Amino acid sequence: LLSKLKDPSLAVDKALVAGEWLAASDSGKTFDVTNPSNGEVIATLPDMNRAEAARAIDAAYAAQKAWAKKTGKERAAVLRKLFDLMVANADDLAAILTMEMGKPLAEARGEVLYGASYVEWFGEEAKRVYGDTIPGHQGDKRIIVIKQPVGVVAAITPWNFPNAMLARKMAPAIAAGCAMISKPAAETPLSALSLALLAERAGVPAGIFSVVTSKDSPSIGKEFTENEKVRKLTFTGSTEVGRILMRQGADQIMKLGLELGGNAPFIVFDDADLDAAVEGAMISKYRNNGQTCVCANRLYVQAGVYDAFAKKLAEKVGAMKVGDGFEAGVNAGPLIDKKALAKVQEHISDAVSKGATVALGGNVSNMGGLFFQPTVLTGVTTEMKVAREETFGPVAPLFKFETEEEVIELANNTEFGLASYFFSKDVSKIFRVAEALEYGMVGINTGLISTEVAPFGGIKQSGQGREGSKYGLDDYTEMKYLCLSI
Ligand code: ADP
Repeated sequence: LLSKLKDPSLAVDKALVAGEWLAASDSGKTFDVTNPSNGEVIATLPDMNRAEAARAIDAAYAAQKAWAKKTGKERAAVLRKLFDLMVANADDLAAILTMEMGKPLAEARGEVLYGASYVEWFGEEAKRVYGDTIPGHQGDKRIIVIKQPVGVVAAITPWNFPNAMLARKMAPAIAAGCAMISKPAAETPLSALSLALLAERAGVPAGIFSVVTSKDSPSIGKEFTENEKVRKLTFTGSTEVGRILMRQGADQIMKLGLELGGNAPFIVFDDADLDAAVEGAMISKYRNNGQTCVCANRLYVQAGVYDAFAKKLAEKVGAMKVGDGFEAGVNAGPLIDKKALAKVQEHISDAVSKGATVALGGNVSNMGGLFFQPTVLTGVTTEMKVAREETFGPVAPLFKFETEEEVIELANNTEFGLASYFFSKDVSKIFRVAEALEYGMVGINTGLISTEVAPFGGIKQSGQGREGSKYGLDDYTEMKYLCLSI
């Protein structure tokens, strides 16, 4: 790993707890981080326990009040510096990310800049945490609303976007005057640690941002939810784990930000621009090798264009290059682990056993390991697992539909409500369908919806709260109302 970096100090193999870089855990236990492209161990990190998480929380609690007293402009200056450092070191951060997660280097660089955009955005927003004045209810009363930081915030983040998922939590927290302790996924902690190192260099004070490395996420999650010094938990990951954390936080009525699973419908109407729809499907389905929570999971194609769309999509997908993320021209890396690979295989074999046809791919790549062929399935029906569960891999299942009413019902028939997409050129239909889809986000004639300027988040069992945009800072502030008698 070190040989790939211009600044080797960015490859950190220590945890950051309470302002101290720790090479060893209290117990002396460690865990390995491996490169999913070849299985090689790239780092060995301290495997921390609950008590160490509690130490990070104590330090955050102690440091937060002084950080909150700084002006928005002062906090903005630190975040601006962090943004500049992320951009200046984007190549190194991307190399670290590709090494631990597998995605193609160009995508990793895109992720780093995307993560940095939240740091820039929330730094700017730090100056605009406006309150309100309300006309008094009695002649002698004056009412003022102020917004204050929630305090100590814990973050648990996943492996699929190891930089951006943390950056878009730490940036608003730090902008608002909160302190953050984080636990990155054990598969991909190195991106979080390099972010923390740059945050330290940018002037984030000791204790304000900790990264607890651990393989024992249930224990750390318990400390994060049960420690009363923690006022909010922000989590990105599966609905299953989100539910556990919500239950655990219930005793202390913890504030929650949850970005959970999706089961995104991607609808192509007869009147769509087919080339644009294929382009959108490529981005929305195959980006990050199908391992994003906003990935198209179910592709509904209207009968009139079904065959043409399937053919065009298979042609494009067939041209994808699978391989090590460091290799030039590769646009699909490995899956994250064996479990992920097994789920993809299971979804394909279940669909085939119930009558689906493999139009392209369908098997482990001849490179072996965790590489899988980008796959297109046709003749897919609602009885198959792919209709209900998130595949989280490079499989596009194509369902055929006849009418608008039918497809809206199919699209909404899920407990998830994160992202959705559709392609049409009819303005009336665009408004009808966009308003009828029960999702937090709707991509219309586009497969790429993520940006720091818009509110990212889901409804139903896909979560609560929003990340990014002018709304994003609200999740890290509490409203207080002052009633003054003069
Ligand atoms: P994914 O499918 O992305 O791995 P998970 O929800 O399993 O989704 O993991 C997301 C994050 O939650 C990771 O950092 C993981 O270590 C952590 N995690 C998993 N189980 C728990 C738990 N019981 N308590 C707290 N964190 C957990």
